[in-house]
Amino acid sequence: MKTVRALGASLAGTSAALVTVEARFEPRDRARTEILLTGLPDNVLRESRGRLESALEENGFAIGSGRLFLNLVPAALKKSGEILDLPLALASTAACGYVDAKLLRGALFLGELGIDGRLHAVPGGLAAALVAKERGVQRVFAPPATAAEAACITGLEVHAPRHLAQVIAHLAGSGPPLARVVPGDDVTVVAADDPAPSLDEVRGQTEAKEALAIAAAGGHGLLFVGPPGTGKSMLARRLVRLLPPPTLDERLDVTRALSAAGRWPGGLARSRPFRAPHHTISYAGLVGGGSNAQPGEITLAHRGVLFLDELPEFRREVLEALRQPLESGRVLLSRATRRVELPAEFQLVAAMNPCPCGYRGHPRIACACPPTAVERYRRRISGPFLDRIDLVVDVPAPSIDELARAPSAADERYREPSLVERVLRARERARARHGLRANAALGTDELDRCAPLDAAVRAFLEKAARRRGLSARAVQSLRRVARTIADLDGEESVQLEHYARALALRAHLA
Ligand SMILES: [Zn+2]
Repeated sequence: MKTVRALGASLAGTSAALVTVEARFEPRDRARTEILLTGLPDNVLRESRGRLESALEENGFAIGSGRLFLNLVPAALKKSGEILDLPLALASTAACGYVDAKLLRGALFLGELGIDGRLHAVPGGLAAALVAKERGVQRVFAPPATAAEAACITGLEVHAPRHLAQVIAHLAGSGPPLARVVPGDDVTVVAADDPAPSLDEVRGQTEAKEALAIAAAGGHGLLFVGPPGTGKSMLARRLVRLLPPPTLDERLDVTRALSAAGRWPGGLARSRPFRAPHHTISYAGLVGGGSNAQPGEITLAHRGVLFLDELPEFRREVLEALRQPLESGRVLLSRATRRVELPAEFQLVAAMNPCPCGYRGHPRIACACPPTAVERYRRRISGPFLDRIDLVVDVPAPSIDELARAPSAADERYREPSLVERVLRARERARARHGLRANAALGTDELDRCAPLDAAVRAFLEKAARRRGLSARAVQSLRRVARTIADLDGEESVQLEHYARALALRAHLA
């Protein structure tokens, strides 16, 4: 009766931890089969004992009369889900003497077990493979879809069995060996409702386009305010097109979040995510939740764009939940026994009407809303939330003249290719100054270094703060935006005119 071991993994949020399954079998004559599972398993895992017994018996590895002890290490870690089915099954067969325990060493096993021994894909293959590689594991066995994720990590030997019996035959050399999985083709991640027409499809609206470039260059949050039909939602959706292509590390982060949510894109994500949840979304849907700390929309938008259309229609508690992640780039979920941290470094872009009917300030259509209704509508977005959005930009309905006007040479500056080019150069400028941190994430000390205030600017900011009732946080946000505008202009130092433009891009929403 010796103890045997097989390596598996458990997923929390978008991270995985390695779990060792220990197994020992005590035969007892004429006793029934008993399986004891210890080491902080959740309910789903406890239920796996039934599947395990059935799958083993079906495939000629019956446990027999006696007691099978299964223990999960480390004991302090709460383990969840079906991802541990395969290592549990393999440790059991080794404990019962069907497989040499030595054959299980140096490999990670992932997968859910059907009652006939068939293996089913599980979320989190990429996160599990990442941690396995860090810990010196060389081989991974997982069902095909999960194995294809693991194969995105170079330097791992990955195999994709469809059935428990195939794993055992491969390990024991008693059947056809399993082929090694090669990484799949790259895929592009865009929302299904995003046909991706160019920014140039929106006529005029040069200020809104400039605001998009500033947002993209400095990582600033952006809110468009304007009546229906001005293209504000279409403009907002194009922000992701102005962002630089993701680095390899960022692509891994994007893929990992999708994988943990059970929405693996079928390869390594090539583009930044664009998420546009509907305003009826629940708190857990947006922020994340459930026993496994399933990623919400803000984590699925990690390294990309989160678009909230009809901003005041979102439930207030849902919007307030965004404050912390907007500041720190991550979200903390408190579960019963632990806290799980999920990445949520997204860029926020939002759109709203100026009033409930939508036509306040429209040149041709009258607004039907009483002033109190307008005020109530706008108050649905709290001051502290608004303080975290650096750019609040009016997108007015164009006049008839503007609609009829042919594009001029001056419009060239606002065409998509030229905006992309300016954003890229502004980002290079910022990177040379303070590395990969976006201007929007600069602290006060860094701001003092790269946007020092002279007497004239100080007086301008003090006056603006007094007149507009700006909070200290809003003034810092103005300084960050001014820094980005100077970067887009190719200026080393931030001038008074950059601050003035930054203030103009912070429309008054009261
Ligand atoms: Zn109205």
